[in-house]
Amino acid sequence: MGWWKVIAPILLAISLCLQGTIRVSSTSPLTQKNQDFEQSAGTSTLKQQQEHAHEVHCSRERSRAAWKVIDEYLVPFVEQERYQMSSKCRLHPDNDLFRDQEQHKIHFDINEWRCGYCKKSFRAEKFLDQHFDNRHYNLLNVSHSKCLADLCGALHCDLMMNSKSAKTKCNPAAAARNRHLCESLADNCFPINQGPSASRLHELFLHQFCDAHTCSRGPKPFSRGGKKQTSIFYLAGSILILMLLPIFYLVVYLYQREIRRGTQELKRISPLGRKTKPS
Ligand SMILES: [Zn+2]
Repeated sequence: MGWWKVIAPILLAISLCLQGTIRVSSTSPLTQKNQDFEQSAGTSTLKQQQEHAHEVHCSRERSRAAWKVIDEYLVPFVEQERYQMSSKCRLHPDNDLFRDQEQHKIHFDINEWRCGYCKKSFRAEKFLDQHFDNRHYNLLNVSHSKCLADLCGALHCDLMMNSKSAKTKCNPAAAARNRHLCESLADNCFPINQGPSASRLHELFLHQFCDAHTCSRGPKPFSRGGKKQTSIFYLAGSILILMLLPIFYLVVYLYQREIRRGTQELKRISPLGRKTKPS
């Protein structure tokens, strides 16, 4: 099998490439652990600095999760309808306390995050968060209640953060409270009397977020789909196809060439074979 000699190095190279990518992705948790370790050494000084941050009673992490939910599962539909959310709507970007800081995060590399205000760089996002809390806390406008994390109950942030397992027991009172908050968001952000696109978005919001706030078997949250998940699967699928397609054609080409060569050799051998045959 001559063609096997050609294919073997190619397959070897591909497998090495794949191993390389796996190794790269597996290093990130390790470096994270190192940073955790290094971080614990310097916590005493950090705690002193964090005294300023106690004025803000809003979770940055949960606000970020709420923003991700809005960005993935609501914004695509709002953009599709070309609808302008009122600034009175609590889902409006202006009503996220941390939005400005989050937009000043520069993700330079896997292990490099930069502060957009002073260009200082950090090895992980959480260190940049701490830097914002310590150095740029004066940029937060805390005079109004703009905590996006307060809407987490309605927006299913736990699903985004993967912090709670899906099997936790349902609390009917909490589900009712979240549903009420959710419906009030739909009424405030997409008033039905403001035209067809607002009422379409109102209905979508109820299906996408509110209907799932029930202890009986109801629809799952984000039942209308979102933006990022599909695009990631699409991207991964197309990359895989692009990688496999040339290999497939190469194998087919080499196989056919081998068959052609084989038949030519047979043609050459067969007359010789007849001559040497003793009669
Ligand atoms: Zn800074």
